Amino acid sequence: MKTRIVQVDENNIDRKAVREAGEIIRRGGLVAFPTETVYGLGGDALNPASSRKIYEAKGRPSDNPLIVHIAEWEALAALVKKVPEEAVKLAEAFWPGPLTMILEKSDLVPRETTGGLDTVAVRMPSHKTALAFIRAAGGYVAAPSANRSGRPSPTVAKYVVQDLDGRIDMILDGGDVELGLESTIVDLTDRAPIILRPGYITRQMLEKVLGRVEEDVTILRDDSGQAPKAPGMKYRHYAPKGELMIVSGPEEKVADYINVQLDLWRSKNKKTGVIATDATINTYRADVCKSAGSRLDESSIGRKLYRILREFDDESVEIIYSESFEGAGVGQAVMNRLLKAAGHRVTELK
Ligand code: AMP
Ligand code: MG
Repeated sequence: MKTRIVQVDENNIDRKAVREAGEIIRRGGLVAFPTETVYGLGGDALNPASSRKIYEAKGRPSDNPLIVHIAEWEALAALVKKVPEEAVKLAEAFWPGPLTMILEKSDLVPRETTGGLDTVAVRMPSHKTALAFIRAAGGYVAAPSANRSGRPSPTVAKYVVQDLDGRIDMILDGGDVELGLESTIVDLTDRAPIILRPGYITRQMLEKVLGRVEEDVTILRDDSGQAPKAPGMKYRHYAPKGELMIVSGPEEKVADYINVQLDLWRSKNKKTGVIATDATINTYRADVCKSAGSRLDESSIGRKLYRILREFDDESVEIIYSESFEGAGVGQAVMNRLLKAAGHRVTELK
């Protein structure tokens, strides 16, 4: 299959490209498109054959449900059994934006789209090209991140091309995304609202609107002996090709420890890398050092993380050490992704 790649600009919507992309979706094809979080791989959410194609193109296990993207509030009612009061409040506060809600699905949504579940994940993105594309596609676009399963989510179209060229019909290239981490997922089908995946919309922000909000215990731990409630979160994710390890503790001790490890690996002729910050980048003796930005700006770290992981692959780095990035806000989302990318390999220094 030849994949058509078209440049688009959020501030100057290319009607022709968007119409063409919408027609591909209506005919049962696949289009990758930019959103404010990461690039999505879109298909018709109401067409079981389209969802099967998405799983195939990504190499994704078919028990890992897709998020249905809508462009109008009115579109939600058709997808769900009922719209709870919490959903109304959350939509008023955060839609369009990086928040996904899990609700009881209606019969309109095929099980192929929900990975066999009776619930459906719904989001209204804020990216203008994404919204125009969803409308042109008929209003219901199922879209996971536009990467091959297990790989870091693409934050620029170049990495969509790397993973999916020849496997999908079209890529809308909208340049760099704004946020760089996937949406916050909140489940509204349980006794109390519960966060299944942290993101740019934090627990504190959700609690301001809803009162108490729970958190899935598996967000930052893998030893809880419990399966995550978002099926996708059980899979190894976001991983670079090299071996990634996290080191946490006092700044100087972390740098000393990592440098000793780097020397060992280099003596074995391994190409080494470090994920540092602006303040520490010059302290490391790695072949490739990358700064995730300033610790004071957690959002900028979120924006850079996946790109950095992909760049290590581009440069064939084999061994990667990362500083730890825990934090209360977006830092929690960053750490959640980094832990998964590292397969939870963490060295804690006292
Ligand atoms: P991605 O599209 O790559 O951002 O992945 C979608 C995420 O949403 C995965 O972690 C899924 O497991 C999760 N998800 C989608 N639908 C549901 C659902 N109905 N219940 C729980 N988690 C879901
Ligand atoms: Mg994904």
